[in-house]
Amino acid sequence: MDFDLTEEQAQIRQLARDFCDAEVAPGARELDRTEAFPDELLPRLFEIGFLGAPVPETYGGMGVDYLSYGLIVEELGRTDASIRSMVSVNVGLVATALLNWGTEEQRREWLPRLATEGLGAFGLTEPGAGSDPSSMTTGASRDGDDWILNGSKIWITNGARGILTIVFARAGDEGITAFLVPQDSPGYDGHSIHGKLGLRAGDTAEVVLRDVRVPDHYRLGEVGQGLKIALNALDSGRFSLAAGATGISQACLDAAVRYADERIQFGRKISSFQLVQQLIAEIYLDLEPSRALYWKVAWKHMKGERHTVESSVAKTFCSEAAVRNADRAVQVHGGYGYSDEYPVGRYLRDARVTTLYEGTSQIQRLLLGRHLTGENAFT
Ligand SMILES: Cc1cc2nc3c(=O)[nH]c(=O)nc-3n(C[C@H](O)[C@H](O)[C@H](O)COP(=O)(O)OP(=O)(O)OC[C@H]3O[C@@H](n4cnc5c(N)ncnc54)[C@H](O)[C@@H]3O)c2cc1C
Repeated sequence: MDFDLTEEQAQIRQLARDFCDAEVAPGARELDRTEAFPDELLPRLFEIGFLGAPVPETYGGMGVDYLSYGLIVEELGRTDASIRSMVSVNVGLVATALLNWGTEEQRREWLPRLATEGLGAFGLTEPGAGSDPSSMTTGASRDGDDWILNGSKIWITNGARGILTIVFARAGDEGITAFLVPQDSPGYDGHSIHGKLGLRAGDTAEVVLRDVRVPDHYRLGEVGQGLKIALNALDSGRFSLAAGATGISQACLDAAVRYADERIQFGRKISSFQLVQQLIAEIYLDLEPSRALYWKVAWKHMKGERHTVESSVAKTFCSEAAVRNADRAVQVHGGYGYSDEYPVGRYLRDARVTTLYEGTSQIQRLLLGRHLTGENAFT
């Protein structure tokens, strides 16, 4: 599928590939094993610009086009999905929401910081409100020119180790509203969750908000527009997730081909057995459409067209393909695939979350079903 890349896009991809092979891949196993936050790598990611890749240069970003951003995310997903997830949330959800809904003052204050200094988080999910965010209970009440936020959020990527969280809260009868909450605000308490199946190097946090005071000029968008802002950001987040999951599928193909070429059984390379080739061919058969689907979203975005449905299709297919492919890659590795001597077990654990977050596979099917039939089967 390289034939359509411009010279600049090909260069960006090469830059990302080289960076990821040299600086991300070598530490991935240890970070996963120790569940350690990538303190040393993060400044390098800011330095190279990936945390503000599609953000316009006027706001401190690299200003690359959307496909180039997807190519960067794919390379990160290929080498360390924990890092990919941090970047996707910072850029795909938080910076995008600021770009699309922020005031000029908000953009000028936060976008350069998110591109060069600290991570952004997207605080939508709550312990009792996951697939149905409209049932959230975190509250925002007015106090003069300020808002007071109370409640709790769960599973918030970058929620304890970042600088800013977009918190979605119910402003009484006026509806769900988005707020820019600096993570050092008094009353903001973020704790990283440990013991996750995958994405073990990433910060996924529980966030408690106790009387957090937010000035009205940190309200993002209009009062009551919160869910619209969240869903709009998810169009971009799901694209990024699809690109990252494609990276996992690519990593599975590379690992399976490499191992099948090295491993000898019955006096032959296992790559010469038809059933091993079948597993490898099936990985490829899921990888190629994955890439085509996220590229399609990128093209629509670059033409200025809405891509809610395409993002949902790409997210669903690429995530499920990544899970299938990681499982196949483990199978090719036999018993060795079951230890972290090889990376395929990590690919499987990291892929698994992609069918859960940013809308589960079931929720995506309901969205698509509603789009195709006009009937709402959500409730
Ligand atoms: C590692 C990780 C990182 C995350 N990062 C973030 C983040 O940065 N910000 C954020 O806000 N959230 C984040 N999340 C939360 C994630 O988006 C939610 O977990 C997800 O939306 C599902 O919500 P839930 O876990 O409450 O599951 P539930 O909504 O309780 O779903 C449980 C099951 O029921 C199914 N189900 C629910 N409703 C229906 C229905 N109407 N019809 C059919 N089936 C249904 C679901 O598909 C699922 O299989 C993250 C989660 C994880 C694990």
